[in-house]
Amino acid sequence: MNGENEYLLKDITYVKGVGEAKAKLLARLGIFTLYDMLWFFPRYVEDRTEIKPVSSLKDGETACICAEIYSDAQVIRVRSNMTIYSVIVKDGMDIATMMWFNNKYIKTAFKLGEKYNFYGKVSKKFGKIQMTAPTYEASENNLHTGRVVPVYSLTENLPQKTIRMVAKNCVDMTKGCIHEYLPDYVRKEYNLCEINWAISSIHFPETAGDYESARRRLAFEELLFMQLGLLHLRRAKKKYGAPVIDGSAYAEEFMKKVPFEFTNAQKKVCDEILHDIKSGIAMSRLIQGDVGSGKTIVAFFAMHCCVRNGRQAALMAPTEVLARQHYTASLSFFDEKEVALLTGSTTPSEKKKILEQIKAGNIKVIIGTHALLEDNVEFSNLSLIITDEQHRFGVNQRACLAKKGNTPHVLVMSATPIPRTLALILYGDLNISVIDELPPGRKTVDTFAVNEDMRARIEKFTDNEISKGRQVFVVCPLVENSEKVDLQSAVNLYERLRDKVFSNRRVALLHGKMKPSVKNAVMKDFADGKTDILVSTTVIEVGINVPNASLMIIEDAQRFGLSTLHQLRGRVGRGSDKAYCIMIADAVTDITKQRLNVMCSTNDGFVIANKDLELRGPGDFLGVRQHGLPDLKIANLATDGVLLKEANICAKKILEKDPSLLQKEHLGIKRKINDMFKEGAKAGIIS
Ligand code: ADP
Ligand code: MG
Repeated sequence: MNGENEYLLKDITYVKGVGEAKAKLLARLGIFTLYDMLWFFPRYVEDRTEIKPVSSLKDGETACICAEIYSDAQVIRVRSNMTIYSVIVKDGMDIATMMWFNNKYIKTAFKLGEKYNFYGKVSKKFGKIQMTAPTYEASENNLHTGRVVPVYSLTENLPQKTIRMVAKNCVDMTKGCIHEYLPDYVRKEYNLCEINWAISSIHFPETAGDYESARRRLAFEELLFMQLGLLHLRRAKKKYGAPVIDGSAYAEEFMKKVPFEFTNAQKKVCDEILHDIKSGIAMSRLIQGDVGSGKTIVAFFAMHCCVRNGRQAALMAPTEVLARQHYTASLSFFDEKEVALLTGSTTPSEKKKILEQIKAGNIKVIIGTHALLEDNVEFSNLSLIITDEQHRFGVNQRACLAKKGNTPHVLVMSATPIPRTLALILYGDLNISVIDELPPGRKTVDTFAVNEDMRARIEKFTDNEISKGRQVFVVCPLVENSEKVDLQSAVNLYERLRDKVFSNRRVALLHGKMKPSVKNAVMKDFADGKTDILVSTTVIEVGINVPNASLMIIEDAQRFGLSTLHQLRGRVGRGSDKAYCIMIADAVTDITKQRLNVMCSTNDGFVIANKDLELRGPGDFLGVRQHGLPDLKIANLATDGVLLKEANICAKKILEKDPSLLQKEHLGIKRKINDMFKEGAKAGIIS
């Protein structure tokens, strides 16, 4: 961002209409400067250009009208907490009623006889035309209506109209201020529009086509920077001189401690690992395996080989609950004295001891969360690094850990399958192993999508499962923007189950806002079978392994993405008992129905992942974070495959021409990459 026109780095309060209060709200969206606002792209745009005559409106359509205010606002108090405000408007000979709930501003919003635009959903009953909660503005304004209108992500108390106004003022005051950073030859070759035009048109395009051109340019550059950054990372990686670890002599000893026979897929991956770590070249391997395919034991196998060679191995997990679970499991394979758990809730005194022991090399197996990345964690001879559920970590976090060893071997494990072509581009530097086989005796999880009406039956079924000695997960959604409400409904559900429906059972609650120590205790009780029902928000999504749990109930399932639903379902069916997954959902949209149908019809993670890519529409971006890469704001890996390929080719060409990006025409690009891979730049990965 430095090197950008200084003016763009001015505080957001510099924009007309933004005071301290609005600035605070905008800060929640990561908007602090003019630049941030310009790069806060709308989620999508809506074409509200056409203004329809009231006489042509149809029931159920969403439309924009221009009409004169024909009556003062009517206020009707329906209940103590519900007031309806309405005005009658007139367009030629036709009249219509505009209606809002609990919006006291309506009373003073309009001037009798003046013209306004209204945009909203139309209902037409017995010839009477009505719009419910339409967006409105004076008809000459054309910001929220009568044009192609941007729709932004919001945060609590920040309405769409407000952020749109801020965006508009910001775009207007910065016209022509952005230095073009893509070289001319790149723009020409890939037919990309100019940056000032792109930014202005991504927010306020003249036409839907202009929006597409702008989006194409911005998505292309994003993919280009990501590709360039990744190619850099790969080149920077030192590969030779990795520790030579001969594991084959210790394989049998390990197998003796395992209570089951490895699947062929697991054996194959173990062989690949043995081969890698013996080669003297640092292993970089991705293990992809569906939920429940048994990746953990393979990780322990690799760690065992490493430790028997007198070297240290680290295993990093994305949540404390999962790290603790791995730690507990590891004690069956390693001596208690040679293993340590390091997380955010390790006490300072304990931590001090552990850090000393790690540094001295007495502790050989280190399991933990992000806490492993802290500067004060120093190793004696860290030779193997494993990240579990790697999509939860950034590329840079992985790189940070790698720097703590001397050319260590690296193994990453993921249950998020991605199509092969995508994998090649994103993980070009990794070898990929696939565990494409589930342990024997696994039964598919019977999956049902039901609606509210079935609740009584579900509760009966739940009780039955518990009577058989089984345990039950109940998962509620928790989404960032509506955290408070979501948390409350999870708590309400918990209390209802505990006090009313299952007062004779042991019901517990788990959510992300709890203290880590409390979370651990709750999780441990559930794992030990001391609780029958665990009501939780999605903190249990990744990795949790409680084989006795046989029923997964997902509340408001329509609010979860396919891959999350699959992850959640993967929490049951891990034992030998028949397992069930019940998704309670109001299947309102077709997409939701299709999503739930996919879940009911297959248990195969790869099939589900492909379907997921297919079903995600524009505006619903496949978070790149899922693949451990920096966030993409606008490019969509699911639908921008062609663009990604072009960007990949372009990136290679640029690096061929100028490997370290030192030429003047590439300096702008270089800055952008550093920006995108910020943490990495700090760690000195990209110079
Ligand atoms: P994931 O791949 O989702 O991380 P886990 O490693 O948690 O799966 O394994 C799921 C369960 O399957 C664990 O209880 C584990 O002990 C068990 N398991 C793993 N491999 C086998 C096997 N070959 N045979 C039987 N059970 C196995
Ligand atoms: Mg796992």
